[in-house]
Amino acid sequence: MPELPDLTVVAEELVRRVSGRHVIEASAPTPILLRATPAELADLAGATLGDTRRRGKFLLLPFTLASGERRTLAANAMLAGRFWLTSTADRVRARTGLRLTLDDGNDLRYVDREMLGKLYLVADDGLDAIPGWTEMGPDADDPDLTLDRFRERIRRHPGELKPLLRNSRFVAGIGNAYSDEILWEAGLAPFRRRSSLGPDQVEGLYNAMRRVLADAIDRLRVLVPPDIQTQHREILKVHLRGGEPCPRCGRELRQIGGREATTFCRTCQPPM
Ligand SMILES: [Zn+2]
Repeated sequence: MPELPDLTVVAEELVRRVSGRHVIEASAPTPILLRATPAELADLAGATLGDTRRRGKFLLLPFTLASGERRTLAANAMLAGRFWLTSTADRVRARTGLRLTLDDGNDLRYVDREMLGKLYLVADDGLDAIPGWTEMGPDADDPDLTLDRFRERIRRHPGELKPLLRNSRFVAGIGNAYSDEILWEAGLAPFRRRSSLGPDQVEGLYNAMRRVLADAIDRLRVLVPPDIQTQHREILKVHLRGGEPCPRCGRELRQIGGREATTFCRTCQPPM
C-alpha cells in the first residue's frame, strides 16, 4: 500500500511531468473504480492539469475545465492502485480505472489490480463528501504538527501504538509498513499501549516518526522517478524482514500476522 513517503514522491513527479498539460481524451476502461458520471468524465477532455499534491493517503490532481470550472480527482489507491505515465500507444492494462490522454503523446492512467482503490472526481468544495475526509487528522509530516500538538492529540488515544500510528484520525499518511519502521526507530513495541508511555517516550515516538518519513522521502526521490507505478520497499529496515537480523542489535526479527504483518525486534522494542 502506498504511504506518505511513496505518495509524496509520486506527487512531485506528477508536478514535474504533467502540470500544465492538456487532456485530449478521458475514459474509464474499467468504470467501477471512478466515482463520476459519464458526463463528468467527458468534461475532463479539454481540461488543464494543475499541481498534484498529497493529503493523507490521497493524491489530489486538480483540473481546470475548458469552461473554467475546477475539479479535483482524489485518488485513494488502497492496496494496489498505481498511477502510470506511459506512451499513449502502450497497451491498456486490465483494471485501468482512468485513462487521460495528454497533449504530449503520453497517457496518465490509474491501474488497480486489486480493485480496492477509489477515484473521486469532485468540485473544489467537494472533498468533504469523501468518506473519512473531514475526520482526517494532520499529515504526519505537517510542519504545523509540532511536538506540543502531537502530545495533545495522542492523549485522546490510549490504545496500542501500531494501530494508533495507522489511524488517520490521529495522524494521516502512515500505513502498515511505515508504522513498523517508526516503532522500530523509536524502540517501542507495536503492542505497547500509548497510556504506558512517559513524556520522553512520546517525544521519542514523534521524533522517530518525523525522521523515518523524511529519510524515506529523500531516498525515494532518488529511486522512484521516472517509474511512478513502482513501489520501492527495499529501503525499509524491518517491515516484512522477519527472520533476518535486526539492523541495530542483530537478533532475529519477529514477524506476526499474514498479509497485514507486523515486524519488530524483541530486544530493541521491549514490551515495557
Ligand atoms: Zn534489535
